[in-house]
Amino acid sequence: MTEHILQLLQNNEEWVAERLSEDPAFFTEMAKSQHPRYLWIGCADSRVPPDEITKTHPGQIFVHRNIANLVIQTDMNMLSVLQYAVEVLKVEHVIVCGHYGCGGVRAAMGNHQYGLIDNWLRQIKDTQNYYWPQLAPLDEKARENRLVELSVIEQVYNLGKTSIVQNAWAERGAPYLHGWVYDLETGLIKPQTSMINNEEILKEVCKFEQGIIGR
Ligand SMILES: [Zn+2]
Repeated sequence: MTEHILQLLQNNEEWVAERLSEDPAFFTEMAKSQHPRYLWIGCADSRVPPDEITKTHPGQIFVHRNIANLVIQTDMNMLSVLQYAVEVLKVEHVIVCGHYGCGGVRAAMGNHQYGLIDNWLRQIKDTQNYYWPQLAPLDEKARENRLVELSVIEQVYNLGKTSIVQNAWAERGAPYLHGWVYDLETGLIKPQTSMINNEEILKEVCKFEQGIIGR
């Protein structure tokens, strides 16, 4: 068992050697500062590594991950990351990226108790209930996939309603918000929203008033 963890340290040494062979100043430059253009809010799922699936490098994406990539207004962790990214780092884009086959979404769709996590996943149940008329006719797999998409759009809406994003929009017309879904089976990312950088586009894309977000 211990060899697995030792392997990570071994891998790290190899990675350092590779980086230095490509660019001897890689770490000294990286240590000076960070200027990421993107904030990524993604699922904690080990199969959705933001840097790798977007072919980006250290320093390019500021990252927040939690189970089922939720944006919950009372989550101080998420809000702190968002505030720092938007107001201090001044990121240009905030991406919420969910994924098909999300265990969090699947758990929220069932009645089995998993413990504390059930409380975290509550909001997904609310989303499912709210959009039940469009989810009900779908078969199980299609319903789960659609709920993944709807939940991502709902998180984008939640982001757009934070004072942090609203103030940044008023001040500099950015960041742009994006809702994406990653497909584990193909490796491809499917955008679920257009680029959103004001209240009007937010309403148009999410169409919450009409109850038909994502259509
Ligand atoms: Zn997930």
